Amino acid sequence: MGIEAGEFVHPERVSAELYCPICACVLENPVQTPTEHLFCEDELLEWMIQSDACPVTKNKLNPDDIRKPGRIITNLLGELERCVRTPPCLSSSNTPAPNFHPTLTNRSLISVVQSSWAPNPNPNTYILIHALCQ
Ligand SMILES: [Zn+2]
Repeated sequence: MGIEAGEFVHPERVSAELYCPICACVLENPVQTPTEHLFCEDELLEWMIQSDACPVTKNKLNPDDIRKPGRIITNLLGELERCVRTPPCLSSSNTPAPNFHPTLTNRSLISVVQSSWAPNPNPNTYILIHALCQ
């Protein structure tokens, strides 16, 4: 399975050439057929268990003719910027933290922690915050 376009910072800048025709996602571990069509390696292997025809051209495809794509394709894929996932404990969501005082939001919880950290850090509060991040 390729990489969802939404995983990239600028999905609109991903070239149409870099999409896998089988899964319609951005290529992951791309391989290239003699007709220069690109596919995710896993999906093309799975496809070839059932069929010996190229998924795009329907011409006979010899497994020996499948190659890793050239450096340009690999470089283009490498240059795509992936979104950095925000850990749940740092998200700006105002959902009340589970198993905590129901009226206390994440935001007010953090301010409580900050005020209790100075000047004497309270290890219990720190452990509580850490538990909420799990
Ligand atoms: Zn794919």
